[in-house]
Amino acid sequence: MTSTLHPLAVPETYNYIATFLTLACNLDCSYCINLHEDTTGGRKRILTEHMTGEEWVAAIDRIETAGSTPITLQGGEPTVYKEFYHVVSRVKEGVQFDLLTNLQFDPAEFARKVPRELFSRQAPYAPIRVSYHPGQNKIEELIPKTHALMEAGFRVGLYGVLHPSFKDHILDVQTQCLKEGIDFRTKEYLGVFKNEANGVYRYPHAIEGLFNKYCDCKTTELLISPSGHVYRCHSDLYEARPAVGHILDPKFRILDIFKPCFVYGHCNPCDVKVKTNRFQQYGHTSCEIEHIRELTPEEEARRAQGDNGVLPPGPVVWKRDARQPVEVS
Ligand code: SF4
Ligand code: SF4
Repeated sequence: MTSTLHPLAVPETYNYIATFLTLACNLDCSYCINLHEDTTGGRKRILTEHMTGEEWVAAIDRIETAGSTPITLQGGEPTVYKEFYHVVSRVKEGVQFDLLTNLQFDPAEFARKVPRELFSRQAPYAPIRVSYHPGQNKIEELIPKTHALMEAGFRVGLYGVLHPSFKDHILDVQTQCLKEGIDFRTKEYLGVFKNEANGVYRYPHAIEGLFNKYCDCKTTELLISPSGHVYRCHSDLYEARPAVGHILDPKFRILDIFKPCFVYGHCNPCDVKVKTNRFQQYGHTSCEIEHIRELTPEEEARRAQGDNGVLPPGPVVWKRDARQPVEVS
């Protein structure tokens, strides 16, 4: 399958390319964005089939980006993917990665196995971005590990989420890190806390899970799941809804168009929050949404059968581990 892959052109309007190597994680944050719609089901609910390291290399090698958009390795925790070091040491020359991590790994092993030039992109923020999660990973360990990676020649930044429960602590840690020469930045908490949606969202009520409506939606992000499926948004990926294609399908193309959606109202905060784009300009939203209206009875019947709007009409079902939708008789 991988030998006939043609290059996959990413539209210039795309702002972000994410490879979710795995959704598994070695921490268990109660506010994890992967579990936005259902914090009770745990991570097992969202774990899916994983591509092999060789398949990830083929997938990444076919991606042709316009300009300087990096390929972000994320999850879950991407470094717990068992072939992480295989992937980063085998991709084609010139690939530029960003890494989102909780830094539970050994910095010495990382420095030994990872070529510096993969994470050498010049940008207003560090290519390796470490999240500090109070009560999960320890700041007393993160600070020396961050120093170790910096001394090994990597650009690293620490990030803390301003969750209402520990905002003051995060700000104290930020002061301490800045004094030590560590780039520590804060991130807005996204999600619902005490029945209130935190964050600035372009589309009201989109993340509250209170209704299913129709809309047309266009993304600016290439999102590839652990199984290699390409999703039109984070919500579809985390909820394992039908995908728009598979990254190793030779026929797969990225269509920079609006697509119908039957589950507007169940968006993930990552898809609809107002944020900065890759040029650090504020006001960007990953997904553009228009024509919001009630579902027709036919659309509601399709939604009830698991169609989020991407399946062709007819007797087609989605099996989350299959690489294509399956025809049923
Ligand atoms: S470290 Fe990140 S991916 Fe892991 S549980 Fe915490 S928020 Fe989720
Ligand atoms: S409307 Fe929301 S759930 Fe539907 S595709 Fe867009 S971001 Fe995803």
